[in-house]
Amino acid sequence: MNPGRSLKKAVIEQHSCVACGCCVKVCPRKAIEILGGIMARVNWEQCVGCGKCMKECPASVITIQEVC
Ligand code: SF4
Ligand code: SF4
Repeated sequence: MNPGRSLKKAVIEQHSCVACGCCVKVCPRKAIEILGGIMARVNWEQCVGCGKCMKECPASVITIQEVC
């Protein structure tokens, strides 16, 4: 199995993100960046849907969803 092809991806409610950067620090794939210092964005090409970012987010704005 190629984890890069997982259909489970992190989805961020960007309007509620407080740009704390906790998700960036824990992502093993370096799939998240903070855009303009105000919101996080996930690169789905890198995300493997592991859920680590979701567990760390203090604002609970990350979910893992099936995407296709
Ligand atoms: S689900 Fe895992 S790989 Fe995807 S952005 Fe979150 S921590 Fe990174
Ligand atoms: S951990 Fe949550 S609130 Fe913090 S930057 Fe990531 S998505 Fe935004």
